[in-house]
This record gives sequence, C-alpha cells and structure tokens, in this order.
Amino acid sequence: MLAGIVLVPWTYGLSLPVFAGVDWLLHKRVPFILNCYRCGCEFHGFDSEHSRFKPFLHHIGLKYDKYR
Ligand SMILES: [Zn+2]
Repeated sequence: MLAGIVLVPWTYGLSLPVFAGVDWLLHKRVPFILNCYRCGCEFHGFDSEHSRFKPFLHHIGLKYDKYR
C-alpha cells in the first residue's frame, strides 16, 4: 500500500486502486488463525466466516506477556 502511495506522482493516482487490490488479495491469502493471549499458542484450520472470536488486540496481548 505504501509503495502505491509513493508511486502516485508517476502513475497519476492509478497505482492506488492497483495496490489496494494487491493489499486485499494478500489479506485473503493469509490463513485464519486463533492466537491465545495466555500462552501464545496458535490454532489453525478455523472457518473465519463463522468465527465467534474477536480479532487479536495487541494492547490486550501485551498485558498477558508477563504471564508467559
Ligand atoms: Zn493458550
């Protein structure tokens, strides 16, 4: 995304939707995982569409760092 913003003067803004698309594709490719705040273990193979878990919040994760 940052590269798309930097290239704006040469591509007249056309790089923005292109890089936003690349950004979106990368997001879709990253596998959905669950990350435990308490021990940091990761769970794979979940269906992100039907997940009842909230997204990982780094400020909450930092609070649990002292227990590991
Ligand atoms: Zn755990």
